[in-house]
Amino acid sequence: MNFEPVIGLEVHAQLLTHSKMFCGCSADYAGAAPNTHVCPVCLGMPGSLPVINKTAVEYTILTALAFHCEIPEFAKFDRKNYHYPDLMKGYQISQYDLPLSRNGYILINDAGQQKNIRIRRVHLEEDTAKLFHVDGTSLIDVNRSGVPLMEIVSEPDMHSVEEARLYSLKLRQILRYLGVSSGDMEKGAMRFEANISLRPQGTTQLSATRVEIKNLNSLRAMMHATEYEIKRQSRILQAGGIVEQETMGWDEARGVTYTQRSKEEAHDYRYFPEPDLPRLEISRVWVSALRALLPELPDDKRERLVRDYGLSAYDADVITAEKQVADYYDRAVEAGKERGVDPKAIANWVTGELFRLMNDSSAEITQVKIAPAQIPALVALINKGTITTTIAKQVFEEMFRTGRDPEAVVKEKGLAVISDTGALAAIADRVIGENPKPVKDYLAGKEATLKFLVGQMMKATKGQANPTLAAELLTQKLLALKD
Ligand SMILES: [Zn+2]
Repeated sequence: MNFEPVIGLEVHAQLLTHSKMFCGCSADYAGAAPNTHVCPVCLGMPGSLPVINKTAVEYTILTALAFHCEIPEFAKFDRKNYHYPDLMKGYQISQYDLPLSRNGYILINDAGQQKNIRIRRVHLEEDTAKLFHVDGTSLIDVNRSGVPLMEIVSEPDMHSVEEARLYSLKLRQILRYLGVSSGDMEKGAMRFEANISLRPQGTTQLSATRVEIKNLNSLRAMMHATEYEIKRQSRILQAGGIVEQETMGWDEARGVTYTQRSKEEAHDYRYFPEPDLPRLEISRVWVSALRALLPELPDDKRERLVRDYGLSAYDADVITAEKQVADYYDRAVEAGKERGVDPKAIANWVTGELFRLMNDSSAEITQVKIAPAQIPALVALINKGTITTTIAKQVFEEMFRTGRDPEAVVKEKGLAVISDTGALAAIADRVIGENPKPVKDYLAGKEATLKFLVGQMMKATKGQANPTLAAELLTQKLLALKD
């Protein structure tokens, strides 16, 4: 029998707020000395009281709106009780039955096939401290404790590792467009948990036994662990066995999942409402105001570039992958309007030469010295016949290096095509005077020598003579000699 995987993902994303979730400590702890971003609240001292970070709530609602979720009128925080050394209070403030949002979806595009992955809920909680295990000793850094953590829970709508990958990338892209999370997995700003079960291919039943894999700290780890787990469960089922419901961990070094807790050992978190925090009232006015703050999101942006500018789906994808690149492109197109520059030509320079040079120098778009308006300025020079496309690439490299205007580079380096008839005529006379043998041959009927003479003109002008005009002038002058 063939089996099909059923995958649900929980994504944890740290929010880019200035302060932590329930205290005034800075949430920007990356690179800070251990235990320097702490106070009685995030250290879990008895008697300290939490205060809700309004920005964290707004970022969560904004995200939920981008995922087309419903925002309820009320939400509350609850205590999730468990004991682990990284949990300072012995409980985590999270949300249980009244989360900030429910019932949304993220659209993914799997090789041209559009599919909605439903979002069950988006809620807010606090991050835990970080443990380090060094030479048989465990050390704790409380800087991370209390950093706002958004949890995005999908329905089990994914049926391949590829779908899980596309969903995760899309989710991350949206968070970065919103500016609510860096999504930086190397810094632990985005972590995954996967629920995996198998069902007979072609059925729609949901398996009662799901295996949960925790602590997947990168997209790669999530994909590898999911792939491994699908194979492991498949082997068990093919052999007529039964997959046990359990919580597993992922051993990155060995590339295997391992049992953390069986069903019998499952945690009872004994959730109860957080008595130190008020219930959250979410007015419709507040939600409308937040909705108005939503930027143009990747799907809409991509569609607009294809529809309004005639870009290929591929180019639109590449340009909208990162918001900063998309914004850069939009500004370039806007600046090109008055010069009548085709947005497609701008897209070619961005996805071609610009990306190539950025790649070669490991530069981010924010570090690029070429201003968006300078790209249509360069294209206009080609369109006017001031420079050839080959010369334009040289000019572009200089612009990338220095940030100077294309006109200035062309002028300073003398790269413009020479189309001045007077100047070229003088050069043509000189070339004829200096090459009596080829001239004689031409006049005797060997027309192929014209090519040689044009070549001499190109040489004299360092490749900048307008070649058609050069050939025309030479022909005229040679014919005049014949008469
Ligand atoms: Zn604190």
